[in-house]
Amino acid sequence: MATQGTNLPRVGGYNQAVVLDAIRTAGPVSRVELAPLTGLTSQTVSNVVRRLLAAGLVSESGYAPSNGGKRRTLLSPRADGAYAVGVQLDPDAAVIVVVDLSGEVLASRRIRLADGCDPADVVSRVAGAAARLTTRTGVDPARVLGTGIATPGPIDGSGGAVVAPPNFAGWGRVPLLEMFGAATGMPVAMDNDATAAAIGERWIGGRARAGSFLFIYLGTGVGAGIVLNNTVLHGDSGNAGEFGHMAVQPGRLTCHCGGTNCLGPYVGPGAVIADLLERHGRAAGDRIGLTGGPESVHQDWKVLRRYVRRGDPAAVDAVRRAARLVGQAARGAVALLDVSRVVLGGEAVRGVEQIMCEEIDAAVNTTTVPRVIRKVDIEKSVIGEAVGAVGAASLILHGNYAPGWQMLTRPGT
Ligand SMILES: [Zn+2]
Repeated sequence: MATQGTNLPRVGGYNQAVVLDAIRTAGPVSRVELAPLTGLTSQTVSNVVRRLLAAGLVSESGYAPSNGGKRRTLLSPRADGAYAVGVQLDPDAAVIVVVDLSGEVLASRRIRLADGCDPADVVSRVAGAAARLTTRTGVDPARVLGTGIATPGPIDGSGGAVVAPPNFAGWGRVPLLEMFGAATGMPVAMDNDATAAAIGERWIGGRARAGSFLFIYLGTGVGAGIVLNNTVLHGDSGNAGEFGHMAVQPGRLTCHCGGTNCLGPYVGPGAVIADLLERHGRAAGDRIGLTGGPESVHQDWKVLRRYVRRGDPAAVDAVRRAARLVGQAARGAVALLDVSRVVLGGEAVRGVEQIMCEEIDAAVNTTTVPRVIRKVDIEKSVIGEAVGAVGAASLILHGNYAPGWQMLTRPGT
């Protein structure tokens, strides 16, 4: 279902977003085709296209094949029409990207964050690195629209703050939106990492991500972003998609929320490594080369991925057990939401995506009610490993150019 525009006056910004979205998704496309795609009159389409051309957001990119009448000019989005900075904050590192309007990454950088570092310190370092990275790309600063922040939840959506995120020692209620606004002097948007990733996927995925999908984000922890009928769900507090607290078969671990059957404690690199060592013993850990300490999760996970690829039974078993639980949670979410697609992404998916997709497929497509209606597609992110940071940048692009998306934007100070 395409998003429909309105022919009322005074909503030029909204119509501009509707037309740009249609050109981005269906382009190259002619003005004549845009009218039925957007529900706007051909006169309104012409006016809006003139403004988009003047703003440098679209270009005339040739002609449609002639069918005897006047040749139709085709319109395409201009990648160099606008840029955004994206920041993905994780407990041990921040990933910063500069992307163009098409979502292509022009430059990226990862900076390590020390354990227990102070929020003001993190903001100042990240903002400085983002400014240097943007300068290095050589793009026109006037076309850089702002900075998007993707952070682990929970967040206070109305106040633009992150609230005591697990794994960030000593972080209480941190007003990141305001802090980044002051540090960058630019508009800032913020969302939890999984929702930002889902918005990035929708922004860049075009037709492949139109409609509805559940995005499962695997990073240090697990989260989900939900897009229903082209609209992202935020919920009343901005925390829709807290997938880590979905109930699964009760095990022996207690979640940081107090729950005894939450998915969260069983997935993520640290949990999978701990599970492997417990079930298969120190000998298996030594054979694979796992250190097993909390400070070596990053390195251990790299090693484990290699053994998964080789088909090592202990490594595959540990990942598969976690994947089955993700599948259980996905099954419930798919039944509830009626999405026809589950998309998997995030830093911790690399190397284990096949097992994850297999187990989610088995859970979702062999047991749910929706299977009698249609099969649910299980797919990898179209963006890949940087989906958190690119998703963060797309918060800004969406906030400016996508119709009807609710954003946490605030002008810089
Ligand atoms: Zn929980």
